[in-house]
Amino acid sequence: MPNEPTANNAGERVTLAGFPVLLLRRRVRRVTIAVLPPFGAVRVTAPTSTPTGEIERIVAGKRAWLDAKIATFPADPGRERRYGEGEYALLWGRRLRLHSRVGAPGVSLTQEGMILSARSDDPARRAAALESFYRKEVQNEAEKLLPVLSRMTGLSPASLTVRKMARRWGTCYHRKGAIHLSLSLAEYPPACLSYVLLHELLHLRYPDHGRDFHAALDRYMPDNREVSATLNRLQRLSASAWAETPDPE
Ligand SMILES: [Zn+2]
Repeated sequence: MPNEPTANNAGERVTLAGFPVLLLRRRVRRVTIAVLPPFGAVRVTAPTSTPTGEIERIVAGKRAWLDAKIATFPADPGRERRYGEGEYALLWGRRLRLHSRVGAPGVSLTQEGMILSARSDDPARRAAALESFYRKEVQNEAEKLLPVLSRMTGLSPASLTVRKMARRWGTCYHRKGAIHLSLSLAEYPPACLSYVLLHELLHLRYPDHGRDFHAALDRYMPDNREVSATLNRLQRLSASAWAETPDPE
């Protein structure tokens, strides 16, 4: 029910120029924009007669100011991830401060953070740009690791692909010799990728998680249990890592 007329004073939650906004209609002369503590929520107060399109143009004109202002607050862990200013992204176990730009889709890394560019100021587009960056990162690293692991185990897959996977870190279709890896592995320390790749590679020889499979895993990666536990622990933490403020160190 978008843009239901609201007769009450509570205001309505709308998205204007890409920003989630609390819009208040009041007997005022002009549109005012405020960014509020504790998490940088945007509140727009507008005259009852101003068309929403006009309000949106005003908000769009303040985009740079809003991004900078919102970035001074910690992100609200209770709201939806926007892949925007003030949030964080994980890369190979490091947490990087995010900056967003409108431009050719892609990621560039700086001293202190990550610049995430997308064609429009739309969180879904930024999410897609980040995913495609993660996919390339995992593909590159996995291709570097593979010859090492193949030499060690005598196993090599017919194909290795990186994709978005909802519930798994990797899969192995041992009859086809195909290994798939999750692009999310780019978020975790590099040892986690080594572990998952080795795990899937060993499934080419041992399809199940039986005794022989684990014996081989222990032989080629003695600390595989610690790495696997770390991956699962970090996965629980990473659900909110984009929003947390860093620990003072
Ligand atoms: Zn397995």
